[in-house]
Amino acid sequence: QTAAQHVNTLLASYPDFPLPGILFRDLNPVFADAVAFRAIIDELAEKHRGQFDAVAGIEARGFLLAAGIGYAAQCAVLAVRKGGKLPGTVLTEEYDLEYGSARLELEVGQLPAGSRVLIVDDVLATGGTVAATARLVERAGYVTVGVGVVLELADLDGRSRVGAVPVHTIVAV
Ligand code: IMP
Repeated sequence: QTAAQHVNTLLASYPDFPLPGILFRDLNPVFADAVAFRAIIDELAEKHRGQFDAVAGIEARGFLLAAGIGYAAQCAVLAVRKGGKLPGTVLTEEYDLEYGSARLELEVGQLPAGSRVLIVDDVLATGGTVAATARLVERAGYVTVGVGVVLELADLDGRSRVGAVPVHTIVAV
């Protein structure tokens, strides 16, 4: 089975979560299936093979992906965290979510200037989260070379907010 087939089989959907009118997509059943998890990691790592020096995972499910990809590709791993959790000198970006608003942060000075970064997350919805992460990567002195997500909510056109960087999604709904 391909990664997309695994995702299509295992993806769960919850109407009106966490707010009325939102159809929440739950990828935890994909992470909880050993073969499916490996398939999604392999696809995201392969897609940009040889093109990145580091993988940046967005809290929280992006961390799971970044850890697997970092191991598979033997590259550096960056944790992009929600606001207020990182010590030292941090860069901050505020942005709007599909529901509510949020803040993401990245510690400075973790990688050499010009490092090529692959950004990963579980779901691309409005694109605000990935766009904010790309701004953090750029402000830290690195270059975003690609975005990898497991699921893209195509109606929300998150791609258009990400700009010129190639976005690879395993499944679009
Ligand atoms: P965006 O900024 O609107 O693209 O939202 C993407 C962020 O919100 C990601 O970090 C996702 O984890 C989370 N998110 C948005 N919609 C969903 C969903 O339906 N299921 C799970 N996570 C979601």
